[in-house]
Amino acid sequence: MLKNCSSCGVQTRQYAEFPAPDTGEMIVRCTHCRKISNPYRTPAGLIGP
Ligand SMILES: [Zn+2]
Repeated sequence: MLKNCSSCGVQTRQYAEFPAPDTGEMIVRCTHCRKISNPYRTPAGLIGP
């Protein structure tokens, strides 16, 4: 299943998914963003490592 990375927006099949610490909404990060520690932004605007 393809998902959009929350950091770079790319569609990826290999991702990590976890709930945002503020709202609990699911955040998707591709393996690339995990590797380079790209920041992500939750729908509520929280920016995390
Ligand atoms: Zn990404």
